[in-house]
Amino acid sequence: MADIASNSPSAAPPRRKTGRHRGEGQWAVGHFTPLNGNEQVKKDDDGLNVRTRIETIYSKAGFHSIDPSDLRGRMRWWGLYTQRKPGIDGGKTAVLEPEELDDEFFMLRVRIDGGRLTTAQLRVVGEVSQEFARGTADITDRQNIQYHWIRIEDVPEIWRRLEAVGLSTTEACGDTPRVILGSPVAGIAEDEIVDGTPAIEEIQRRFIGNKDFSNLPRKFKSAVSGSPLLDVAHEINDVAFVGVHHPEHGPGFDLWVGGGLSTNPRIGVRLGAWVPLEDVADVYGGVIGIFRDYGYRRLRNRARLKFLVADWGPERFRRVLEDEYLRRPLLDGPAPEQPVERWRDHVGVHRQKDGRFYVGFAPRVGRVDGATLTKIAELAGEHGSGRLRTTAEQKMIVLDVPGERVDSLVAGLEALDLRVSPSPFRRGTMACTGIEFCKLAIVETKARGSWVIDELERRLPEFDEPVTINVNGCPNACARIQVADIGLKGQLVLDDDGRQVEGFQVHLGGALGLEAGFGRKVRGLKVTADRLPDYIERVLTRYSEQREDGERFAA
Ligand code: SF4
Repeated sequence: MADIASNSPSAAPPRRKTGRHRGEGQWAVGHFTPLNGNEQVKKDDDGLNVRTRIETIYSKAGFHSIDPSDLRGRMRWWGLYTQRKPGIDGGKTAVLEPEELDDEFFMLRVRIDGGRLTTAQLRVVGEVSQEFARGTADITDRQNIQYHWIRIEDVPEIWRRLEAVGLSTTEACGDTPRVILGSPVAGIAEDEIVDGTPAIEEIQRRFIGNKDFSNLPRKFKSAVSGSPLLDVAHEINDVAFVGVHHPEHGPGFDLWVGGGLSTNPRIGVRLGAWVPLEDVADVYGGVIGIFRDYGYRRLRNRARLKFLVADWGPERFRRVLEDEYLRRPLLDGPAPEQPVERWRDHVGVHRQKDGRFYVGFAPRVGRVDGATLTKIAELAGEHGSGRLRTTAEQKMIVLDVPGERVDSLVAGLEALDLRVSPSPFRRGTMACTGIEFCKLAIVETKARGSWVIDELERRLPEFDEPVTINVNGCPNACARIQVADIGLKGQLVLDDDGRQVEGFQVHLGGALGLEAGFGRKVRGLKVTADRLPDYIERVLTRYSEQREDGERFAA
């Protein structure tokens, strides 16, 4: 394991002085004086410490007792963000002060590492939603579940209930090691290369809620999957471990670093290194250590690991990882193979390696509610062994269903409008939170995504190609617009009468997988929200008419 220093800048290990990036606020080159307000807040008090104040002061004295640097800073370390005040339109997003957009209610994110849930856990998630969150519960594209309308007074009781069943909101947001994505079919899929679950558990045990790693330059996203379907969007994580067969050493993981989307998107790079299952947590520790020590802290829009990786290149990054953190060389290894399927969401009925089945189903754009989650838990309990998974595509899976129980489960799910054989539009459309709750949003996304699905199902009933349609409420990339076939970036646009209305900048032809790349921004192509189905129908009809054999949408 790497020689990891403590969280205190003064205790950071002495590092090579590169000089070149001294101005970027890197601890490793001696930059311990905070260069911006965010860094100052983190230096003043560790984000994890806010929990005590929430439990002993804020939940008792109410919203207005919350210190502003906790409200807009440290609360995130426990998964809490203020949500957008209702009724403020997208035109005001950029011109109002943050406090003018703040509601007195919170979004609360529950981290679900590896997407692993039991029926007992899901039942509690559903109960909390109904009792404390006005029934809200969204499945995110990072396998989490998000509540809205949370009152600060209720947070300690919500934690008590979640933690009693082994769930938590620890470091679900903030400049921290966020949820660890994992293959939703880890341990059960017939075609699995390696089960990454023990590595995810070891990373959780060693790094989550650990104050040595709770002050990172920015968020740190990770993924571990041994599925040949490449089902965790590994290309856009800060560190990712992707299942491969080493010709001499057998199953293990190919190491990727430096991916991330947002306003400066980058696909991660391979370090050419093969990591056995038992070394994954050590290597994770080395990469997060590099990020903490060498990551840029001066400007928040240059603070993700991808900027350091871009400046160093993969060779230097691997050398520093091996020499300074692992203190041993890594083995060279092969790249992952191209998946045979384009869908990576595990929707449908599939045989497990033990002969039982897993059943993946599609809500609409990740939106469910507490009552539905409770019913899903009941169905899973009646039909499976009690295990479920969330996916990185805003879907869910019930595991361990005996063959003779599959039809009954499918009927029960479909009765809840949870499709096991969805249209490509239901299956391929994702939407971020949008203006309903997000303070950065410019346009509405969830209801609009659902409407687009309905319209396309009605207009193009014969269309049966995989297609991804990702709807974002602002220029950030929470719904991964740059890697969608049709990526829609929310902004205000002019309608035919010259009025400013909600609309989208269109990006076409992005992809994940080994053909990963960013969609092209179609110059000048902006669509008003009310014409979205017309536009997508035109694009897909033209594609259907003109495509050649084997050509996929992005070609
Ligand atoms: Fe909010 Fe923008 Fe992220 Fe959507 S993409 S959730 S609008 S920050």
